[in-house]
Amino acid sequence: MNVILLGLPGAGKGTQAARISDKFNIPHISTGDMFRAAMKNKTPLGLEAKKYMDAGDLVPDEVTNGIVKERLQQDDAKRGFLLDGYPRTLNQAQALQQALASSNRRLQHVLYIKVPKEILMERLTGRFMCSNCGATYHKTMNPPKVEGTCDKCGAHDFYQREDDKPETVKNRIDVNEEQTEVLVRHYADYDLVREIDGEQDPKKVFQDIVDQLN
Ligand SMILES: [Zn+2]
Repeated sequence: MNVILLGLPGAGKGTQAARISDKFNIPHISTGDMFRAAMKNKTPLGLEAKKYMDAGDLVPDEVTNGIVKERLQQDDAKRGFLLDGYPRTLNQAQALQQALASSNRRLQHVLYIKVPKEILMERLTGRFMCSNCGATYHKTMNPPKVEGTCDKCGAHDFYQREDDKPETVKNRIDVNEEQTEVLVRHYADYDLVREIDGEQDPKKVFQDIVDQLN
């Protein structure tokens, strides 16, 4: 089964990806893992990607597309895959289509885990840490037992990482939303998009995914 997983940050892709991979026995292929593996194995494309990353530049599409193509040719991906974080653009989507066609494969599903932006904001901006010991909390999902007091060390000072601040999070969501919408429109033309309500309990989300894939 050849599947792409789409969803904005905070939609729960990581959790669902692990379950899907397990249940359908297909590798979860995330862009980050792919890059790390290509660099660690010092493949020509991996070394090429490293040059750009070390210089703080974006890795160009040809390099990224090549790394994905090589990954999809590995044995474990031959019976199927779950792609996460790729494609991000229409160009990449077309490159993927060609790569698959060249080995007589095609995409079967584009899973889109949908969660309203307000909920994503709540999930992603809720994290904060203890200034003294670094313990991590979440306003709604994992608050300290006594409000304003760290469970671990008793300190009363907390801070939020730059990444978790509302403005940063909103910007990240907006950029991702734009990219995702382009892809959803593209794949809708091929009737591949399966929308999943990601606001539900993770177990129910997974059940809906299984129903869609079966
Ligand atoms: Zn503490």
